[in-house]
Amino acid sequence: MQKAGKRNRCWKRSRQITSRLVSNGIPANVITGGPLKNLYRLKQFHFHWGAINEWGSEHTVDCKVFPAELHLVHWNSCKFSSFEEAVMEDDGLAVIGVFLKIGVRHSGLQKLVEALPSIKHKDTLVEFDVFDPSCLLPSCPDYWTYSGSLTTPPLTESVTWIIKKQPIEVDEDQLEMFRMLLFTSLGEEEHQMVDNFRPLQPLMDRTVRSSFPSQYRLSIEPESEKHALPASQQVPLKGTVHL
Ligand SMILES: [Zn+2]
Repeated sequence: MQKAGKRNRCWKRSRQITSRLVSNGIPANVITGGPLKNLYRLKQFHFHWGAINEWGSEHTVDCKVFPAELHLVHWNSCKFSSFEEAVMEDDGLAVIGVFLKIGVRHSGLQKLVEALPSIKHKDTLVEFDVFDPSCLLPSCPDYWTYSGSLTTPPLTESVTWIIKKQPIEVDEDQLEMFRMLLFTSLGEEEHQMVDNFRPLQPLMDRTVRSSFPSQYRLSIEPESEKHALPASQQVPLKGTVHL
C-alpha cells in the first residue's frame, strides 16, 4: 500500500456520519470475533462512490468494481483510550466494508438518502434521532479480511479490514442523491462530490483471508500489479463478526 507523502495525490473525502449510538445507556454498535481480538466500537460511517455506476468502490472482487462502498469505522476501545490514539496503532481500527450495487431500493438507506439534500454543502450538519447502521449490512455473514491502511489521511497501517462478500442493493435514484452532494461550501463555485475513492493499491506482502471456501478473489490492487496468493494458498478463516 502507498503511504502518505509518497504520492502527489489529492484525497477526496466523503461526508462522514459520526455516531452517538447509545440508547438507554446501552452502548450500541460494537463488533468483536472473527479476526478481532478485542471489542471495537463504531466511530463513524461513510460512503465512497463514482460519478457513474462503472466505478466507485475501493475494493474489487475478481476485478469487478462496484458503484459504491460503505465503510463502518470502529476503534479498539479495549486497548486504547481514544479514537485518535487508536488511529496510529496496528490493531487500532476495524473497518467493515460493504459493496453497493444497483438493484431494488434499500429501505434502511432511504432515511439517510432523504437527509442528503440538507447536507449538500461542505461543513453542513444534520441530526438524526435514531439510526442503526447495522441495517445497512448484508444478511450473508461471509467476508474477507486483511491488515491494511486507512484510505484517507493519515493513511496509517492501523486497519483490520473486514469486507463483506454480499453487496447490498440500492436503486439508481438513491445513488444519484449521493452524487448531488458537493465538495464545496455555500457560495463557492460548485464542485460535485463524486469519485471520492482511493485508487487500487499494491497488495505488497499482505494475505487476504476469507471466512468461507474461496471462490471469489478480493483485490486491492490493479490487475497488472497482482501478487495475490492463489485461492488454494489462502488461509481459511473461522469465525464470524458480531454486531
Ligand atoms: Zn472509507
